[in-house]
Amino acid sequence: MLGLILLLVGIAVILIVLAKLTTKKFEYKCPKCGETFSLSTVQELFTFEIMGFSPVRCPKCKRWSVSPIRVKQK
Ligand SMILES: [Zn+2]
Repeated sequence: MLGLILLLVGIAVILIVLAKLTTKKFEYKCPKCGETFSLSTVQELFTFEIMGFSPVRCPKCKRWSVSPIRVKQK
């Protein structure tokens, strides 16, 4: 029974990772200095989203802030 639960959890984690890897590129805007930036795939794996906002660290001013997520246009 425990093995089955672990298997299901494992599958769920793999699906989440795959969904993140194949997702569109997002970009973030620092509300403090106005810098627009994107994250690497690895960083995005560890970034969580709440109602279209994400806590991210600005590469320019190095401060953490809650940034609105925007889909990067090609
Ligand atoms: Zn900034």
